[in-house]
Amino acid sequence: MSQVRDHALTKTLAASSTHALPSYLNADDLGPWGIYLQQVDRVTPYLGHLARWVETLKRPKRMLVVDVPIELDNGTIAHFEGYRVQHNTSRGPGKGGVRFHQDVTLSEVMALSAWMSIKNAAVNVPYGGAKGGIRVDPKTLSRGELERLTRRYTSEIGIIIGPSKDIPAPDVNTNDQVMAWMMDTYSMNVGTTATGVVTGKPIDLGGSLGRREATGRGVFTVGVEAAKHIGLDISKARVAVQGFGNVGGIAGKLFSEAGSRIVAVQDHTGTIYQESGLNVPALLAHIKEHGTLITFPGVEVIANDAFWDVSCDILIPAALEQQITATNAGRIQAKLVIEGANGPTTPQADDILQERGVLVVPDVVANAGGVTVSYFEWVQDFSSFFWSEDEINARLVRIMQDAFDSVWAVSQQHKVTLRTATFIVACQRILHARELRGLYP
Ligand code: GLU
Repeated sequence: MSQVRDHALTKTLAASSTHALPSYLNADDLGPWGIYLQQVDRVTPYLGHLARWVETLKRPKRMLVVDVPIELDNGTIAHFEGYRVQHNTSRGPGKGGVRFHQDVTLSEVMALSAWMSIKNAAVNVPYGGAKGGIRVDPKTLSRGELERLTRRYTSEIGIIIGPSKDIPAPDVNTNDQVMAWMMDTYSMNVGTTATGVVTGKPIDLGGSLGRREATGRGVFTVGVEAAKHIGLDISKARVAVQGFGNVGGIAGKLFSEAGSRIVAVQDHTGTIYQESGLNVPALLAHIKEHGTLITFPGVEVIANDAFWDVSCDILIPAALEQQITATNAGRIQAKLVIEGANGPTTPQADDILQERGVLVVPDVVANAGGVTVSYFEWVQDFSSFFWSEDEINARLVRIMQDAFDSVWAVSQQHKVTLRTATFIVACQRILHARELRGLYP
């Protein structure tokens, strides 16, 4: 993940930049933010007169770093570093999740916030992009400590979030309970119950039906569309999934229901393989009960690195950033990669996969189902009128199909990858809004 650095890339970026690097960046260690900057550079030639505004996308609008002190159960005081970055708000309030992870850095949150700007524009929901995080391993905290951490963090970032300013949501290691605590803390501070300040809440607190499954459902929906374009029969496809939580687990379940064989699954505890296809509901139940997949009966446990050599048609990276790199991209057997995670493929790996004829459906469209149903949740909270799950899923599928079709058309028109095509569509929307609003003062 963020520790995996590519020095050749960062040197290229530093050399090609016409502007001095901002003080918070180290030219030799740009990480995910460096990857994002290169993705923007790749799209700039296609932006026409809007290229004049492109520098806007290369610096976040607002970044807040906060100290989050909490009293641990043993009576000592611990301090954690928290972040909230609002990358762009040209098209609407900031929107994006909050992750709790021991390796989170400001540079990583900057990249994740920028990818939210691109994603929200790609599916045309009226938001800018934002992201937050706390540098903590939540597995080491008790429930009480986790609640105190969440509440203090929410209070600290309370000066920049709000239902019409910036709306957090779940991301890696955060869930509906964390959102309930965030909503309550913000509401206590402003003196009114403000359900619209976060999305991904429990259903009984203004959450939306279908939100928990939405990212995985979106991954499946664009996967079906992409497979049609390359003549791949989903009902016969072999699928390998990295990360089997809320995104990979749901996507895996939907693919297996459509007849695909889930032949390999990797998570932070190990990697399993079964050529005849895993029983996904049983595997999900096993993970829930035992916290690991490697003890699932009747499967072959393989080395983590062997995951990249698995014979399959579809690969779904649904864990963390920088998993598909120049070192393993050449080994991938799949014809189709659908990015459930944010930022799983480096630009060098993108080039290798493109040369090898592997179609990559990029994160900024593939995993946009989550934020799309977050948008539905926010709208439902504002109107206090709640929709049925069927209606939510039907609207989600339509938005994902439309987004995929537009991006596919642009990729054909300009003969570019789906990632560059998505960036073209999204950057044009963001920069057009920027231009219409004009420069203040
Ligand atoms: N964390 C999710 C993402 O990366 C969802 C964000 C949201 O719903 O605001 O897209």
